[in-house]
Amino acid sequence: MESRVCLFCLQDSSTSVSVEHIVPESLGNTTLVLPPGLVCDRCNNYFARKVEGPFLNSPAILALRHLEGVQNKRGRIPGMDVVLGNGIPGRLERHPALKIPFSLDVSATDAAWLTKNPGAWPTCASFPSPDRPDPTRDVARFLAKAGLEHLVHRNLDFPEGLESIFGAPELEPCRRFARYGEGPKHWGVRVERIYDADHLFEENLPDDQRVWEMDLLIPDDRESAFFAMSIFGLELAINLIGPDLGSYDRWRALARAPSLLYPEGVPVDLREQQNPGS
Ligand SMILES: [Zn+2]
Repeated sequence: MESRVCLFCLQDSSTSVSVEHIVPESLGNTTLVLPPGLVCDRCNNYFARKVEGPFLNSPAILALRHLEGVQNKRGRIPGMDVVLGNGIPGRLERHPALKIPFSLDVSATDAAWLTKNPGAWPTCASFPSPDRPDPTRDVARFLAKAGLEHLVHRNLDFPEGLESIFGAPELEPCRRFARYGEGPKHWGVRVERIYDADHLFEENLPDDQRVWEMDLLIPDDRESAFFAMSIFGLELAINLIGPDLGSYDRWRALARAPSLLYPEGVPVDLREQQNPGS
């Protein structure tokens, strides 16, 4: 058996059997994976519980998953907490297979009160904005994990490239931040909506949404490694070399790049190309 070490804990991972999903399966990823052993079963399990879970269930990302109707591994669209216009907390659930595809759950006490006071029925509700995820450590750790894995994925066919990533001192803070939560209290993340969730790209014809995409940019001075992932057009960018994003902002200003994923701008929505002005 080939001896291997894990990208994150650097321990022997020869007996690991799980593939590592760079983008969580709950966001519909079944293809972008690292083969068993590059991330050991223990780290794989840890990331699912302690890094991906908190990210996927953070209010903004949960709202995005709910609104865009992304089914999780069990085929369920996650519910979303809302606050009704009269201050009563509730939870919106989606049931695409049913005749009435939405339901709103409130507590038994609130339901009883609303039954007695039909005049107080709310006409509106508020929910977390999917465009404003709190740039918390959960979000940054998720991006640090995905960015390092993306770097490895790009080098799968280049043994020398792979070797230079495993244990690279410049990536050490990021590795320890992702895997152990060690390091600075704040690791910078830039969040930007770069296209609408239903933006239509030529590659996604006839009407598929682009759920996620990612890219990496290493400037010539090699002192930074910028990684960005977009989820339904919400771009989240991080520097894999350190928590500071000053170099990222400078690169963007110099290159006049609206985003890392589309430095020259996002291609026009295909529907607009076909029906200009509509
Ligand atoms: Zn490991």
